[in-house]
Amino acid sequence: MESPFKIINNKDAYDSLSVQENVLAIRSLKAEKNCLVLCHTYQRPEVHEIADFVGDSYGLSMQATKTRHDRIVFCGVHFMAETAKILNPEKTVLLPSREAGCALADTIDEQKVVEWKARYPGLPLVLYINSSAAVKAHADIICTSANTLKAIEAVDSDKVLLAPDKNLYYSFQPKTSKTIIPWEGYCPVHKAITKELIESVIAQHPCAVVLAHPECSPDVTELADEVLSTTGMVDFVRASSEKEFIIGTELGLVQMLQRAHPLKQFFAVYNHKSCDESCVCPYMKAITLGKVRRSLEDDVFKITVSEEVRMKALNAIQKMLSLGRDK
Ligand code: SF4
Repeated sequence: MESPFKIINNKDAYDSLSVQENVLAIRSLKAEKNCLVLCHTYQRPEVHEIADFVGDSYGLSMQATKTRHDRIVFCGVHFMAETAKILNPEKTVLLPSREAGCALADTIDEQKVVEWKARYPGLPLVLYINSSAAVKAHADIICTSANTLKAIEAVDSDKVLLAPDKNLYYSFQPKTSKTIIPWEGYCPVHKAITKELIESVIAQHPCAVVLAHPECSPDVTELADEVLSTTGMVDFVRASSEKEFIIGTELGLVQMLQRAHPLKQFFAVYNHKSCDESCVCPYMKAITLGKVRRSLEDDVFKITVSEEVRMKALNAIQKMLSLGRDK
C-alpha cells in the first residue's frame, strides 16, 4: 500500500515539515515496524510527543528490560542506547543522530579506566551510567543519579572508585562512611549552572523551592532545598503543594514540568537577560523529529556492542537494576 505520508529523498528536509506531519508519520512507522520509542526527559518537547515512555536513565533502562517490541528507537544519547542494546541483544536498537554523544561520558575511555583502576588494586568501581559500554565492562556496579548511594553501599569495600562525574562525589561522600575516590569528570551543561546564576534566579523568585541535580557543582547543590535525580524532581513537584520551583538541571525537564503542571511556575537557571540558555544540552537536542522519522524509515543508526563487552557490562547493569532508587 502506498504511504499516505510524503517521502523525501533528502531526508534532512524532514525537519522543515510541520511537527504534526512528522508526528503522524512517525506514529504510523512505529506501528508498522513494531517499534518502541524511549525518550529522555531532556529531549525536545515535540520529541516527547512520539514517545512511549519518557524518563531518566534509570527509568529508561528499566523500560528497556520490559519491551516485547522488535525495535527500540532511543531518543537520548549514545550511552543510553548502548545500555538498551546490552539489555536487549536480540533487538534492533537505533539512535537517530550520530551527534548524540555525551561530554561527561567522553571524559573516560577504556584505556583510562584500566590505568586508573591499576593505581588502586582491589578497589571496586562504582560507575555512573553516563559512560560507554567499553568502560562499563570494567565496572563492579553501575549507578544512576537515582541510586548512587545504594550502589556505593552495595559494594563489599570501605573504599570505592566513583567515575566519571566528580560532582556525584561531592553530593554523596557526606552521606556515606565509605571513602570515595572520584574521577575528575563533569557535565558541562550542569557546570554552566553556576552559583552566581542560581543566586540571581533565587533573588528574582525568593519563594520558589530550589531543586538541583547531583551533576551540579557543590556550591550550587548547597543552595538547593533538595538535590534530586530528574525523576526525583518530577515526583517531588507532583507531591508538593508549593507553586514555584527553580530547577537546576537541563532545560528540557523544566519545560516538561511546566507542561505537566500549568498552574505551577518553573524557572530554569540561565542568564535570562542575555537569553544565554547554557542549560541546554546540545547532545540531547541533536535528536529531532525529522531524524527520528529517518531513523525509523532507514533503520539508522544501529547500535552494536561486542558480546564480550556486553556480558561484562550486563553484569554491572543488572546489579544496578536490582537496587531500586535512593529517592
Ligand atoms: S546533560 Fe551532560 S551528562 Fe547529560 S547528556 Fe548532556 S553532556 Fe551528557
